[in-house]
Order: sequence, then C-alpha cells, then structure tokens
Amino acid sequence: MWGGSPHYTLSSTGSGRAATLEAVSSHPRATVPVSAKLFDRASAIIPGGVNSPVRAFQSVGGTPRFIASACGYTLTDADGNDYVDLVSSWGPMILGHAYPEVVEAVRRVAVDGLSFGAPTEAEIELAEAIAARVEPVELVRLVNSGTEATMSSVRLARGFTGRSKVVKFSGCYHGHVDALLADAGSGVATLGLPTSPGVTGAQAADTLVLPYNDLDAVAAAFAAYPGEIACVITEAAAGNMGTVAPLPGYNAGLRRLTEEFGALLIMDEVMTGFRVSASGWYGIDGVAGDLYTFGKVMSGGLPAAAFGGRADIMNRLAPIGPVYQAGTLSGNPVAVAAGLATLRNADPQVYAALDRHAERLGALIGGALTEAGVAHQVQFAGNMVSVFFAESPVTDYVGAKASQTWRFPAFFHALLERGIYPPPSAFETWFVSAALDEDAFDRIAAALPAAAAAAAAATPEGTTA
Ligand SMILES: *Cc1c(COP(=O)(O)O)cnc(C)c1O
Repeated sequence: MWGGSPHYTLSSTGSGRAATLEAVSSHPRATVPVSAKLFDRASAIIPGGVNSPVRAFQSVGGTPRFIASACGYTLTDADGNDYVDLVSSWGPMILGHAYPEVVEAVRRVAVDGLSFGAPTEAEIELAEAIAARVEPVELVRLVNSGTEATMSSVRLARGFTGRSKVVKFSGCYHGHVDALLADAGSGVATLGLPTSPGVTGAQAADTLVLPYNDLDAVAAAFAAYPGEIACVITEAAAGNMGTVAPLPGYNAGLRRLTEEFGALLIMDEVMTGFRVSASGWYGIDGVAGDLYTFGKVMSGGLPAAAFGGRADIMNRLAPIGPVYQAGTLSGNPVAVAAGLATLRNADPQVYAALDRHAERLGALIGGALTEAGVAHQVQFAGNMVSVFFAESPVTDYVGAKASQTWRFPAFFHALLERGIYPPPSAFETWFVSAALDEDAFDRIAAALPAAAAAAAAATPEGTTA
C-alpha cells in the first residue's frame, strides 16, 4: 500500500492535476544540462557511457536521462525533470518504484548482513513462491541475472540430453549468452547487429536460429538434425523485438515437437514471469515447459534471477548431479527479500491494474496515431505492449525490422520532452506499473497528439518535414 510513505507523499504533493498538465503542455523540456554533463563524464570512463547498451539512446539520438530518484510511476532525472515511467526498469517494477513494503523488506534484512555465502531460510521461501505460482516448476536454483539463468538452463539441457544443438528464434533475446546472441532482440536488434564479434564459430555452430511463430521451420530442423537437438529455447511471449505474442497454438506446437523428438523446451519467462499474470505466461496459455527461466519481477529491481523445472532434470545439477553451476552471490539475502516482498504484494488487484493500464495505454497510443494518420499496430502480450509503425500485424523479427522504425525517434522524443518516458528503442516493450493513476494517464493523453504528429512528420532520412 502507498499510504504512509513519506517519500511518496513528498514527491506527489505540490502540483495539482491542472498545474501538471499546464506545465507539461506549455513547457516541453528542451535541455537537460546536468544529464548532458553526466553523460560526457560517463562516456570518458564507461564504454558508451552506459552499463547496458539500450540506455545510451543510440537508436533514438539525444541525451540519456540520468536518473536521480524514482517513486511510484515517477522518474526524476538529474535536472529535476519528472517523467511518467513506461519502462519500469525494463519490467521488474510492477508495483511502482520505491514501493514501501519492498523498501522496508530490503531495509530490514540489510541491517542483518548483506551476504553470507551460506544458505538462508528466505531463499527457500522465494523458491517455494516461484514453484507455487508456476506448476511445471518442481525445483528452483537462484542465480544473479537472466543471462545466467538461460546460460545455465542450456548447459543443463545439454547435460541432461547428451545432445549439442540449441534452437532459438530470431528476435528473441535470452541475455548475452554467447550461443544465444545470434539474431537476438533487445539491444542487439536496437543496434542492428547481426551477431557479436567475440562469439566464436564453435560457440555459434550448435545454435540453430529459426523464424519466430513458424512451426514448420521447427519441424524441419528436427527432421534435419535427428537426435542432435538438446533444447528449444523461446520467450514464452516475445518482448525483445517489440511485443510479439505467440500465435495461437505456437507454444503448444513447440511442446508437441520437442516431446516427439526428445528435446527439452525451455520457456524463457525472464520478462513475462510474474508480470503478465501471477503465473507468468504459463498462467495465460498453460503450455508446460521442461525448464523455465525467471528474472526481472522476481527480484523486485535487485539483481537476482532463477531457473527451474522438472525435478529429474534439475537434480542433474551440482552438488547432487554432474552439471556444474554456481554463484558467489546467488540467493543474496537483500535481493531475495526484494523479490519476496514484490511477489507477496502482487495481489490480484495489482494484476488487474497492470492489465487495465496496458489496455488504456495501448488505446491512447492507437487513438493518437489514428488521429494523425500514421499506420500502426499496437500489439499486446498480456499486459506487455508496444507499437509498430506497420500496415499489418507483426508476427516475427523480419516483420518487426520491416516496420517504419524511422518514425520512432521523433515519436519517442516528443513524448520524452513532454514528461513521458517510453523505451528508447523501437524494438522494446513498454512496461506499465500498477502505480499509474489518473494524473499519469492525463499526462500521457496530453503528450500523445504531439508525439503522433511528430511520427507522422518523420521521414526515412531522419529529418522532419
Ligand atoms: C531481460 C531478459 C533476459 C536477460 O536478463 P538479464 O538479467 O538482463 O541478464 C533474458 N531473457 C529475456 C526474455 C529477457 O527479457
């Protein structure tokens, strides 16, 4: 509950709705001198000035906002500008920022020690909370990032099956695992990289990259490599090439084919897990994977992630099995506390709010673009949403890349200048939080007509008419 948080009260008072709207519409923020200075300083010591590529605004241009604080749906940058946050730390912050119960849980455990390198009771509780929500998950191992979760799952799938090849889909992103970077989404898509130098031919050779939403291609791969494919890894619903839901029957088809050919199905729910429903995408389509990966929401904004699944597979992990996997900070007590508090506070009302907010956001975006005469597709996967400037629905990475992504920078900056913070890439999902309220939607609605007009005026050359 928000009541009683002094932090929230401080940042939410002082401007009524009318005053906020007036400020937003009449004073677009053109300059951000403090962020610009920080970006210069960062660029001198951190490659590209950022610790994760999409943050650099490279595909949209302009100065990345350095964030000073966040509360509820509001991000405040180093220049003191407020933004309605539609990124939510790329998914985790379903409750909103600095949610009082989560902050309190972190504070409570932090004073008792930050890390022990020995097991704690709370790790059991988090593993139990995950397994209780996602039925096919019988055993859980905690790790530190989604990347580690997918990397470990693929290693485990290979160790379990004794096979080498991995099927992944174009435009799906599973973290920066060497073998999974080929034709990946997220920052790889944003920067237009085919794959990454530094990934050797040997590391990529066992990866088969297939188009998303194309079961015939998967069947053909199994026919071409009998007995060689260890696993198929898929985003349970794709959110890293923009939002591209699996077509009806697609995940079920992957389940059928993997079963038929003795391969494992890894459902990557790092993005969807505990966001699109209490049980993630599994709660929406009910297709059971053999292994699951989780991150983002399950650690409430701190660095923790997990993988889990069938007991007979998970029991092949060290120390009881031969497949090695470890982590100095895995199951960190502070991260675990944030994750547990987030899951415990994500009640049915929170999920109903996330769904409602995504639908409302999508309708506002679509309405403004229609009004401005811009061809577009507002696409959903549960409460994940994104917009493609395209004439017809996007179902795969080829379609996503064929969309008029050159309209996005103008659309993005018009929103940013009006105090709305969308993802700084045409290939990323927009993430709502339950904290959005009428004021937030008033600000979004007030900003969208100008953004839609900017998108309409954009040209492929990047200049505006
Ligand atoms: C974010 C993401 C990852 C990687 O997680 P990190 O914590 O950034 O390493 C993996 N898979 C999916 C589907 C993701 O969205």
